[in-house]
Amino acid sequence: MSEPRPRLRLFVPVPLTAGQAVAASRDQTHYLGSVMRAAIGEAVLLFNGVDGEWQCRIEALAKAGAALVPERQTRPQAPEPDLWLLAAPLKRDRTDLVAEKATELGVSRLWPVFTRRTNAGRVNLERMRAHLIEAAEQCERLSVPELSEPAPLDKVLADWPADRILLFLDESGGGPPLADVVTAGPAALLVGPEGGFAPEERRMLAEKSYARPVGLGPRILRAETAAIAALAIWQALAGDWKTAPRQ
Ligand code: SAH
Repeated sequence: MSEPRPRLRLFVPVPLTAGQAVAASRDQTHYLGSVMRAAIGEAVLLFNGVDGEWQCRIEALAKAGAALVPERQTRPQAPEPDLWLLAAPLKRDRTDLVAEKATELGVSRLWPVFTRRTNAGRVNLERMRAHLIEAAEQCERLSVPELSEPAPLDKVLADWPADRILLFLDESGGGPPLADVVTAGPAALLVGPEGGFAPEERRMLAEKSYARPVGLGPRILRAETAAIAALAIWQALAGDWKTAPRQ
């Protein structure tokens, strides 16, 4: 009889090879031992964004640390769709929500972008990265989205790769529906802050050959709703939602 799928799944930033023990971090050790009450010999799935997913065994587990030994690869590495989300930082829990949902919705990169009307002063990258990792572990991704250094919108645009379409979610109704514009190929979605885009930002974006304003219907959505809705539309029309769920 085959073993049931392990209930534990963790991201580790180290290579995964059969027989090569991996040390769990302090937080992971606490999670395995105190939170999940895992036992020595229990199976855990590990992934690192490079080597696919591996079934591992807990070889040692104590307060001070845990060792996990990879036994067999359960899934080979596969890339996420080539989709970036550029989002103005919001209030803390809304930013956390965007990080979590963007991960579940398969972005390859998350980039906090400061716009004129962004209220949030600074971004706690460590906290954000922790949310990305937790969401990736939970949703069975094989990678954690890349998290880019927060930057002002004009700087981001100055270095923009011209072959990547930038679909900016324009609440002013200046663009066609997102669903009419989505095509295959490298893409990025840009969501504004609670205060929306400033007119000069719309003008700046209008001058860029790679940027297109797009709409999400007649209602003004909260920034986090707009991000989630836009990611879903893109995944359904150009991403990997055409693929059947894994068995
Ligand atoms: N305060 C602004 C609304 C900002 S909504 C106002 O009253 O006009 C926050 C962000 O969500 C916007 O900048 C935009 O990127 C996105 N958004 C919200 N509703 C949208 C819609 N109907 N179409 C496209 N983008 C939208």
